[in-house]
Amino acid sequence: LLPEEGTIAVKAGYPPDDTLDDADIAAARWAWEHNHAAGRGADTLPGAKRLYVPLRTGRTAVGVIGLDSDRRDGPLLTPEQQRLLDALADQAALAIERIQLVADVDRARLAAEADRLRSALLTSISHDLKTPLAAILGAAGTLRDYFASMPEEDRSDLLSTVVDESERLNRFIANLLDMTKIESGAMEPNYALHYAGDIIGSALRRATKILEHHKTEMNMPTDLPMVRVDPVLFEQVIFNLLDNAAKYSPEGSVIHIEGWADTDSVVIQVSDEGPGIPPADLTRVFDTFYRVRKGDQVRAGTGLGLSICRGFIEAMSGTIAAGNRRGRSGAVFTIRLPKPHDIPKLDELR
Ligand code: ADP
Repeated sequence: LLPEEGTIAVKAGYPPDDTLDDADIAAARWAWEHNHAAGRGADTLPGAKRLYVPLRTGRTAVGVIGLDSDRRDGPLLTPEQQRLLDALADQAALAIERIQLVADVDRARLAAEADRLRSALLTSISHDLKTPLAAILGAAGTLRDYFASMPEEDRSDLLSTVVDESERLNRFIANLLDMTKIESGAMEPNYALHYAGDIIGSALRRATKILEHHKTEMNMPTDLPMVRVDPVLFEQVIFNLLDNAAKYSPEGSVIHIEGWADTDSVVIQVSDEGPGIPPADLTRVFDTFYRVRKGDQVRAGTGLGLSICRGFIEAMSGTIAAGNRRGRSGAVFTIRLPKPHDIPKLDELR
């Protein structure tokens, strides 16, 4: 029996369906509260069916163990059995205490982590929700008050602001939701074999607006092996990488997407011509809410994009790494997905 809500409750027993009657419950509680044996064969509450012995460690009692015997009369335990029981009870008490300490430490660690996340989230939300909202409110308010007297062109500019900023909000919230799903383990990928080039194509289409000031070059061999991915998650990963490439590299520069296969994996690389990532930050950029340049807040961002990429790619048994280009500045993101061993032949697919 282990403590539960101020008293103690049966956690395990043999036979499993055995129950305690009132006299036994009273003896078990007494043993727990007084840190002393009670019940059958003891001085206190000897009318109980079993003997209850506290499980003690150096610090406190961690629980109570109840013992029964087929023998109906005479003492429950011989002196030798008593010694054996004492030794077993000490070992069990230590093991239970250790499990509880580990759980306590875990709880404390999780609470600290949750606190850190919460404050990062609040900072991020206050910036990333407020900026587009302020723009939307401003544009909508101006439209309401001056609609009639405004040139057509200004109206349409303001409307575009409303739409663009709403899309930004929408992306931000979608990212937050994705992150919560990854962290709560509620994500259930929907795997199937896909040609990576198709999914990258649809990510590029979705990102057309974001990429309008950049050139994109895609080099995906048509004979690239298929990969086992969830198309929605994979598209989101590519989308986030393209979004970053556009955000962190100068207008007019080129974003490359390249694919090839090596022995075990299909590799996909997204590279840009921006400043790249400081070597010390190459792994940290994947941490939730991590942003390299703190002064970078002018560029809308949350530090969520890459942690989502890593969460999704790892859920699909792949890896993702950040690096820098050789010979010129620019960031390179490399995704590796395992080559499936059981790719059906084309005629089997028909
Ligand atoms: P954010 O919303 O800030 O872009 P990410 O998780 O997508 O969040 O990226 C984390 C950080 O990594 C960014 O704030 C930026 O500092 C850095 N980073 C990401 N992609 C690039 C890139 N292509 N070039 C340079 N820095 C990048």
